[in-house]
Amino acid sequence: MEAWKSVIQSRTQDEYYENWNTLQDSYGGRVPTLVQYVKEIWLDHWKNSLVHADIDRFLHFGTRTTSRVEGAHAVLKKYLQVSTGDLKLVFDKINLLLTGQHLQYDGDVARNRTITPHTARTALYTQLLGRISNYALGKLWDQRFQLTSPDPLLVCTGRFTQSMGLPCAHQIQERLRNNGVLTMEDIHPHWHFTPRLPLTVMPLILEPAVAAVRGRPATQEDHTYAHPLN
Ligand SMILES: [Zn+2]
Repeated sequence: MEAWKSVIQSRTQDEYYENWNTLQDSYGGRVPTLVQYVKEIWLDHWKNSLVHADIDRFLHFGTRTTSRVEGAHAVLKKYLQVSTGDLKLVFDKINLLLTGQHLQYDGDVARNRTITPHTARTALYTQLLGRISNYALGKLWDQRFQLTSPDPLLVCTGRFTQSMGLPCAHQIQERLRNNGVLTMEDIHPHWHFTPRLPLTVMPLILEPAVAAVRGRPATQEDHTYAHPLN
């Protein structure tokens, strides 16, 4: 799995072929069918959608997998609980769920605005504090941290900025060299806190009409017999 992870997480095409050769050399002799399987079923067809060097050409803000969508789906299913509700019930429940999530989101944003991670308390971030998410600040910190390594930076592929909409270690290094700070223009609007529009929900679905049942419903009969004086 480590070898496979290296293949998937390759930053460049060269790195990809290098990591693939390593995997092949290590396992091609012992488990040739496995190596053949990942090559023929997966990489030959889906390399462009799997390997970081390929997918990081696109602005994905760090979402490389579908697990967040699957997670959201699971939350909704759990919230609905029953599979027999009518459309109105489903609509109302989804509405409640989303309203709850929006409140949670507003709370998280408020906390993000006021609580600055200690790693961001340097001049470089001054203009960003309280204006972008702590998650984005953390991603910037990861990039800056690379500058503290005694090893020289890896060559810039431009992929981090392309995929995250944030300045990479190389850009931060350049800025620091010129005594500069990061500005809001360096940060993709995806990460900006912007005033959110008030939540308004249109009643698109009305209460379903209740079908008229012929004769008296059984429960009402029981009710009548239980109170013969009525
Ligand atoms: Zn770079």
